[in-house]
Amino acid sequence: MKIKEELLMELEEQIGIEGLFERLGLKQITRNGSNIYSTCPFHDGADNPTGFSYNTKKGFGYCFTKCHRSYDIFDIVMKTKNSTFPESISYLADLVGVDIDYKFKINKLKDNYDNLDFLKQVRKTNKQSFDVGIEPFDNSVLSTFISRLHTVLRQEGFDDNVRDYFNLGFCTSGYLENRITIPIDSIDGDIVTISGRSILSPIDLEMMNIPKYKIYHSTDKSKTLYNISRALHYIKVSGEVIVVEGFKSVWRLHQWGVKNAVAAMGSTISNQQILLLLRLGVKIIVCGDRDEAGEKLNNEVVEKVKRYSDVAVIDMYKLNVPLKSSISDINKKQYEYLYRSKKEVV
Ligand SMILES: [Zn+2]
Repeated sequence: MKIKEELLMELEEQIGIEGLFERLGLKQITRNGSNIYSTCPFHDGADNPTGFSYNTKKGFGYCFTKCHRSYDIFDIVMKTKNSTFPESISYLADLVGVDIDYKFKINKLKDNYDNLDFLKQVRKTNKQSFDVGIEPFDNSVLSTFISRLHTVLRQEGFDDNVRDYFNLGFCTSGYLENRITIPIDSIDGDIVTISGRSILSPIDLEMMNIPKYKIYHSTDKSKTLYNISRALHYIKVSGEVIVVEGFKSVWRLHQWGVKNAVAAMGSTISNQQILLLLRLGVKIIVCGDRDEAGEKLNNEVVEKVKRYSDVAVIDMYKLNVPLKSSISDINKKQYEYLYRSKKEVV
């Protein structure tokens, strides 16, 4: 059983959701069937006591009065205890006396988790540098890029819709000269850096020893997931997030109407990225490219999240396509087949 389900089950058996709400300081708690009403913990809901309704069957609460959105138990604990996601798990585990042998791991991850806050800080104070190893990003550079779809992308089957949606451009001078520019977003929708993709062929790149991708400044892209801000709505609606390696797979999925995909931007995934994924509170579906590195990514994600989240693997090896193929190299039918036959991790 997943830890979230296990904690919720223990919680309902031992002290009940009402008991928890009481401890968390919520007021005017009443129950009607599987609905528990109280003041909203997220805004000052004292004016409308029954504005917040938690459904024990669905496992989340909804604020009808002001927020007009849903929250799960972990959101509620995080808000009322002013804590992080790992801390909210620890709090509930302590409360119901569940001995979580991975508690230690959570504490280890917590340090990294706290670094996520830097993304929010970048937005608030765009001028200062932060010790976490990322330079504040100067957004004005975006306006220096040519806003057009490069032939290379057109040849790969991408169109102006993709260009517009992902704000792709082309850089004619400076560090990213002669590269397609790909703005990388944080979960808050800020641009945290730009990736520049060379327009040279793989053979030329190898001969001249030029990297295919270069990152503006030396920003650490491993602190975010590409497309996370645009995908957020679709992730919440679908209850799933698709994790791929590269930008192109995200664009291709977008063309097929699959908008809940994010890219790790490589075949490894950082703990910050894992925590971003876990915090979404949805099922995680990983699809590495059709090579050893891609398989490694699939395994890494599964190992890191399976204790905390539902997870499934889309296996590119199920298709008879060339080595190193990614979602961007296959067609919609092939993807639909892969998605249907994804392997659930239990
Ligand atoms: Zn509210």
